[in-house]
Amino acid sequence: MRYVTHSISLDPQAEVDMEEMFCTSCNEASGCLPIAEAQDWAMRHAGRTHHFGFRLQTTNYYLVTRHTDTPQQHP
Ligand SMILES: [Zn+2]
Repeated sequence: MRYVTHSISLDPQAEVDMEEMFCTSCNEASGCLPIAEAQDWAMRHAGRTHHFGFRLQTTNYYLVTRHTDTPQQHP
């Protein structure tokens, strides 16, 4: 049996810090925003609706890399 080593890391090509704030009272969502803007959205939503509970969801993308053995060159 042959084992192949894999590793996992953040995808450098993907967007980072994708945050989405959800109101826990009405489930309205901010959409994906930088964290400071998601917090601002929550403050505005609370001011407008008097809903004071929020849930923050963060999305990150990862890539798995497969490490295959390369054949050794013998002179
Ligand atoms: Zn709400």
